[in-house]
Amino acid sequence: MGKRLTKRNEDYSKWYNELVVGADLAENSGVRGCMVIKPYGFAIWEKMQAELDRMFKETGHENAYFPLFIPKSYLSKEASHVEGFAKECAVVTHYRLKNAEDGSGIIVDPDAKLEEELIVRPTSETIIWDTYRRWIQSYRDLPLLINQWANVVRWEMRTRLFLRTAEFLWQEGHTAHATEPEAIEEAEKIMNLYADFAENHMAMPVIKGLKTESERFAGAVETYCIEGMMQDGKALQAGTSHFLGQNFAKAFDVKFATKEGKQEYVWATSWGVSTRLVGALIMTHSDDNGLVLPPKLAPIQVVIIPIYKGLEQLDAISEKIKPLVKELRSKGISVKFDNRDTHKPGFKFNEYELKGVPVRLAVGQRDLENGTYEVARRDTLTKEVVPMDGVVAKIEFLLEDIQKNIYQKARDFRDTHITKVDTYEEFKTILEEKGGFISAHWDGTLETENRIKDETKATIRCIPIDDEREAGLCMVTGKRSERRVLFAKAY
Ligand code: AMP
Repeated sequence: MGKRLTKRNEDYSKWYNELVVGADLAENSGVRGCMVIKPYGFAIWEKMQAELDRMFKETGHENAYFPLFIPKSYLSKEASHVEGFAKECAVVTHYRLKNAEDGSGIIVDPDAKLEEELIVRPTSETIIWDTYRRWIQSYRDLPLLINQWANVVRWEMRTRLFLRTAEFLWQEGHTAHATEPEAIEEAEKIMNLYADFAENHMAMPVIKGLKTESERFAGAVETYCIEGMMQDGKALQAGTSHFLGQNFAKAFDVKFATKEGKQEYVWATSWGVSTRLVGALIMTHSDDNGLVLPPKLAPIQVVIIPIYKGLEQLDAISEKIKPLVKELRSKGISVKFDNRDTHKPGFKFNEYELKGVPVRLAVGQRDLENGTYEVARRDTLTKEVVPMDGVVAKIEFLLEDIQKNIYQKARDFRDTHITKVDTYEEFKTILEEKGGFISAHWDGTLETENRIKDETKATIRCIPIDDEREAGLCMVTGKRSERRVLFAKAY
């Protein structure tokens, strides 16, 4: 504490790591690529979970839980699915350890080899569709709308706290439907739900779109996504919702009897957001002084810091604060009165600034005499003196205003970082000098997409759904293009 963070424009990546550790959100563990989420970071994730869970239930979904392990044969049943995930699977081969006979320590017991290897789930489609075969017989069993809160493992080579870890926490929705249009509608509904959550709770503007074939989820017919723009001009995939067609139903033989008594394969979706969202939140709003949290997801929305000499003054302040804390809590506002006598006020100010607490109240002897509080807001770092009897209304106003203000700020940044280009030269210049999303025409081929990726490291983030179609010519090949797509360098 007290040590300044590296500035964003000096080294964005270093700033991010220092911030995650400094604000007590998470740290690297002894296991490569796996992080320890600390209580403050976990509290943010819990607030995200609570809201998303509410939204899922409101739209008719129920929670369930499936095994951590997937038999290798299950994973192999859907060909493109296993091919997509094969390179990053952790595999369990044995079920026992023993003491080495030469006394060199504990070894894997060669006699305890599993008959069939188990894969630590990288995602649960296969184990879930194996289960759905037993759950679904007739049209009366549909739709089946299930969500699971779980951990998954993908053996990522390049990891970064929250944004990309080998083990991560997420929710995965898995739904089954009688018809294709109904499944597509579900996939779109969830993309919209994610966008609503990102914008209205995380205060993070996102672009809704479709992935190109090469960026699609392994096993999906169509992948819908929401894409955010981080402050260094790089894009981040914040959530995905997949229309899986009948791929998994066919692989796991999940059929249902229609009203007319015909046997048909079931239509599916799956969708997920992960602890990556905590990283997205940090990268979208935080500044050189530390974290900036949207009030709706801040574990502590208001911190009250007493400024006192001696216990008598502290007691007087505590008495004054008690009814205020009670009133704020009764309004559902989370408040912390930090009366620790082990730390000085200046230290506490720095700590809560680093931790992104939206509103800070300071109260000292003079405030008691004048009937005032000093109220500071984290987003603009401004403060003002407020009469005690107007402070609750002031706090309520600030919490709403900060939520709006940081959304608008992020939105302005994002909007000024979408550049339309028509030539490949211009594309490369913008990518290097400005970054952000680049809206350009592309001929729709994998070949051109790969060439752009190899030459510039930019990928097609999405084919935006809300943009107006505008025909043109591919910036690389000059071939016809039906619409612009969004490119960016991405996390
Ligand atoms: P997917 O199943 O690949 O569509 O991913 C579902 C969600 O998890 C997406 O929102 C991804 O952005 C996120 N995600 C994918 N891989 C990781 C990872 N290694 N660490 C954290 N989040 C991830």
